[in-house]
Amino acid sequence: MGISIKDVTVSSLSPMMQHYVKTKEEYSDCILFYRLGDFYEMFFEDAQTVSRELELTLTGKDCGMEERAPMCGVPFHAAEVYINRLISKGYKVAVCEQVEDPKQAKGIVKREVIRVVTPGTTLNTQALDETKNNYIMSVVYLSNRFGIAIADVTTGDFMVTEVENIRKLSDEIYKFSPAELLCNEAFCMCGADMDELRNRLNISITTLENWYFDDELCARTLKEHFHVGTLEGLGLKDYACAVIAAGALFSYLLETQKTSLEHMRAITPYITDKYMLIDSSTRRNLELTETMREKGKRGSLLWVLDKTKTAMGARMLRTFLEQPLIDKEEINARLDAVEEINQHEMDREELREYLNPVYDLERLISRVSYQSANPRDLLSFKTSIGMIPPIKKLLEPFNCEELKRIYEEMDELQDLYALLDAAIVEEPPLAMKEGGIIKDGYHEQIDHFREAKTKGKTWLAELEASEKEKTGIRTLKVKYNKVFGYYLEVTNSFKDMVPDYYTRKQTLTNAERYITPRLKELEDMILGAEDKLYALEYDEFVKVRSEVAAQVERIQRTAKAIARLDTYLSLALVASRNQFVRPKINTKGVIDIKNGRHPVVEKMISNDLFIPNDTYLDNGKNRISVITGPNMAGKSTYMRQSALIVLMAQIGSFVPADKANIGIVDRIFTRVGASDDLASGQSTFMVEMTEVANILRNATSKSLLILDEIGRGTSTFDGLSIAWAVIEHISNTRLLGAKTLFATHYHELTELEGKLAGVNNYCIAVKERGDDIVFLRKIVKGGADKSYGIQVAKLAGVPDTVIDRAKELVEELVSADITATVKNIASENRKPKAKPVVHYDEVDMEQISLFDTVKDDDVLEELKSIQVDELRPVDALNILYRLQNKLKNRW
Ligand code: ATP
Repeated sequence: MGISIKDVTVSSLSPMMQHYVKTKEEYSDCILFYRLGDFYEMFFEDAQTVSRELELTLTGKDCGMEERAPMCGVPFHAAEVYINRLISKGYKVAVCEQVEDPKQAKGIVKREVIRVVTPGTTLNTQALDETKNNYIMSVVYLSNRFGIAIADVTTGDFMVTEVENIRKLSDEIYKFSPAELLCNEAFCMCGADMDELRNRLNISITTLENWYFDDELCARTLKEHFHVGTLEGLGLKDYACAVIAAGALFSYLLETQKTSLEHMRAITPYITDKYMLIDSSTRRNLELTETMREKGKRGSLLWVLDKTKTAMGARMLRTFLEQPLIDKEEINARLDAVEEINQHEMDREELREYLNPVYDLERLISRVSYQSANPRDLLSFKTSIGMIPPIKKLLEPFNCEELKRIYEEMDELQDLYALLDAAIVEEPPLAMKEGGIIKDGYHEQIDHFREAKTKGKTWLAELEASEKEKTGIRTLKVKYNKVFGYYLEVTNSFKDMVPDYYTRKQTLTNAERYITPRLKELEDMILGAEDKLYALEYDEFVKVRSEVAAQVERIQRTAKAIARLDTYLSLALVASRNQFVRPKINTKGVIDIKNGRHPVVEKMISNDLFIPNDTYLDNGKNRISVITGPNMAGKSTYMRQSALIVLMAQIGSFVPADKANIGIVDRIFTRVGASDDLASGQSTFMVEMTEVANILRNATSKSLLILDEIGRGTSTFDGLSIAWAVIEHISNTRLLGAKTLFATHYHELTELEGKLAGVNNYCIAVKERGDDIVFLRKIVKGGADKSYGIQVAKLAGVPDTVIDRAKELVEELVSADITATVKNIASENRKPKAKPVVHYDEVDMEQISLFDTVKDDDVLEELKSIQVDELRPVDALNILYRLQNKLKNRW
């Protein structure tokens, strides 16, 4: 086990360990990396944790106590790797560094924590995905509102907003998926599912003490940082709650980063309603940025759309995708840019070429601001900004607003280019303190030292030759030893010829040693030239870096302009390569897609085999499409493609179709497939119903709903009834009136066409060939009257005996004629009653044997055996649901 830090008597420890314990007290929530010589050491519990997590050997240190303190260490030059591994496991690391030269220290070496690295504040580019922002989010819950602040310290982005309920908060959390979340104590009690955030989203959560959220302190912190007198000046007048979240976040950043955060130059308030609302399950279901199964980019929409050349562009495109627009003008402005670029294909290709050597300016400038950028970073910076003039030149003739704005905002930064070009060599080393950084001719003294270092020997040889000539002493030699430095040695036989300006230093038996003013001068220049050179080069490098840092605002603005350009170039290229068309955007609510394709599936299947399909929805007679067809026919693909085309149009992308007129939607909701959510402790059906509840509560008449097989997770009659009631609810404009694609295997639901307003039947055509079916993948008007489930099972290779028995059973069930019952109810319900359900007593008793039958005793036994104390609320609901179901199915 080893001794705990809590058990030590501080006074009995060595002075260094006393300092360790004191520092550790201040950073108790971090693992303390304590610098000792060439290692960072950890002690006590930290040592145990780190040795366990990183599989390092645990040793012990004698520190004045009976028992040795557990200790483990990592070499300082490899510390980044270990820190990253700890961060990725959700730990925070405080780095305590030697802040004075150990050689010059009197007593113990002075040490200080120079940075706290946390999941949301790591700057290590190797640990981060360059195509993604690494966000830290702060959430404050105050009087029923949530203030939210989001920052990315690697790029300097800083945004704030406010939302009024937990669902919208959850949407924002999913949208940004921060690595770290800071919150106040009230937040922990607002009903947010902390386990879900921690375990499923892998967010490291820290509850900050109350003083962080003091409103005056928060306002002051922001005003001081942004050098403004009032918060109005920052556009934060109406964001009282968000100001607190932002202030707390800033205090936390200042405390952990221990720099002035000069690269965070702006704070951007935004309104969540400015963007299309996409909830977390829809994001997942539509596989916008990653696939549901593998969680990889390949197979996602981003994978198709992302042909960006720079990391900044990749991040911007991802942001476009995560926040589709809902304003017609803004969408059209983006589409104009994509269109104009594609009218100039040669320019497009040339511009993309120019972006090739452009590095991640946003993250580079952050490192510059943090004073952690090395000489190679500055060279990359120079190479990148060197591309701006030709980019601007090509952009100049473009006419559309977006591209003009990009042109305006792109600063050529030629002053910085000139500075870096003059100062930094073309192939600088990584190390900052070993010279070789500054170009010849940039700094006189540096040139001098460098000359002294390299030309010292020549100078000495020249001096020796000229002195020989001047004095005529043939044996004269320039020599060196550690005690006297450089001297001229004259053998005794030539002693008399020594001139006056020689000063004698030492007499040997057979020779005399002298120095001259010139030799002294050379000695000063040669000896120590290297040390002086390195120190001076470092100083100059730091000066140049600071000059670059001073221009952070210009650089960040330019970086964003490059990112936008890269994004448009990518969208344009993808559009032209994949025959996407510019969608027309309308606000009348009509979605009219001719020959639409699924952008991802069409890439996955070979030889242009994808069959295009039309989609038509409006606010009137075509609000709800009930789509039937066998499994594997392509229902899900069709519905997703319709949603993706709408979403693509609203991010400003061209779309995979022959023609598209897209009525802007405010939200897209999807309920796709029955997926078990074991991780969250919910049953399949519970997940399904929770999602349906969310959709029905939050969709508006301007939303697009994709509902795939609602009600499939329960018994046929319950499922059919729920599906039916949902369609009625949506069809009723007063209740919802949203545009909906509703795929179902309950072909009984096709009865609703003509009986419920706005409902139309579509099916995906198949051809029967004897016992088999051929998928035609074409959507046609009308409803399927059967499911072809058994044919698909046969195709999948289910044994013949099972198939044959299934056929027999289906015959029997068909004779039960559920459809007839349903038809009756449908006609009775021309004007739907409040709760239309299929009543069990209307069903033929022959079917009943197929359902689970249970005795009351089973239910009672199960009730008795439940350990109520150990149940989570969600399990209780599930059990309740199951028991009720058992009783319901008892006949
Ligand atoms: P289930 O009801 O079992 O979920 P489904 O009707 O939703 O099935 P999909 O999953 O959409 O069927 O499609 C099955 C497969 O058919 C897809 O993986 C795809 O490869 C192919 N497919 C779907 N639509 C098309 C199309 N329009 N053109 C070509 N292939 C298609």
